[in-house]
Amino acid sequence: MDSLRIDNLEVFANHGIFQEEVSLGQKFLISVVMYFDASSAGREDDLNKSVDYAKVCSDITKWMKTNRCRLIETVAERLAQKLLLDHKIVREAEVTVRKPWAPIGLPLECVSITVKRRWHTVYLSIGSNMGDREKYLRDGIAFLKKDQCVRILKESSLIETKPYGKTDQDDFLNGAVKLETILTPHELLDLIHRAEEDANRVRKEHWGPRTLDLDILLYDDLEMDEEDLTIPHPDMLNRDFVLDPLRQIAPNLVRELTKH
Ligand code: ATP
Ligand code: CA
Ligand code: CA
Repeated sequence: MDSLRIDNLEVFANHGIFQEEVSLGQKFLISVVMYFDASSAGREDDLNKSVDYAKVCSDITKWMKTNRCRLIETVAERLAQKLLLDHKIVREAEVTVRKPWAPIGLPLECVSITVKRRWHTVYLSIGSNMGDREKYLRDGIAFLKKDQCVRILKESSLIETKPYGKTDQDDFLNGAVKLETILTPHELLDLIHRAEEDANRVRKEHWGPRTLDLDILLYDDLEMDEEDLTIPHPDMLNRDFVLDPLRQIAPNLVRELTKH
């Protein structure tokens, strides 16, 4: 991917842990690399199709002076998030924060942190088998949409399915959603838990009736297996009520996943 780079923008600001850092302030040097497709901007000589680096510099300067963080890690994290949210075409942002005057009483040249953050592609399965099922599903997606770190890209139609695992309960309405997010997998899990709580979901029994169930199927090509989060969802390939809606929004992906 193409990249636009700003090196060592100098900003005097008051981030830090030590009292003198907060009260007196110090010099910070901010470098960023923004990754995006610059081809149409380049071909058409059109700034509107690129990222205005003068504006980026003034926005960073303003942000640095109006916020207070203890750690340069936090400064870098928030600036990377800001770049990804403020500039729709930017897919990935690398931010380096340097502190040449770090007050540690020893003659160091500079201390710095670099973070790289980007948009990730995620597929979710959604399901409901209680009350106004369609409304629960629509409200669940709307709940995710409210978070600026999530952009819904595609929604399947909703299909009526028989219950899975525990069969003596009402039929389900199921669907699949494609989104992009700058949240980590655990932050996304936390968000979907909040969406389920917002739908007043009560967990009484495993695979029991639910107003709203959101599962993370895929997160880029990430594979993880932790106590509270397994990606890809371990049972997804055994479930038609997951694969059928997913096929609607990602046919090639499902073909690849079910090849063997
Ligand atoms: P299943 O995951 O088999 O569809 P379920 O959706 O009924 O079952 P829940 O009660 O909704 O299960 O979730 C139980 C826990 O599963 C969640 O609190 C979460 O920590 C964990 N979990 C593990 N992997 C995932 C995933 N990929 N997506 C969502 N939750 C997951
Ligand atoms: Ca589930
Ligand atoms: Ca679930």
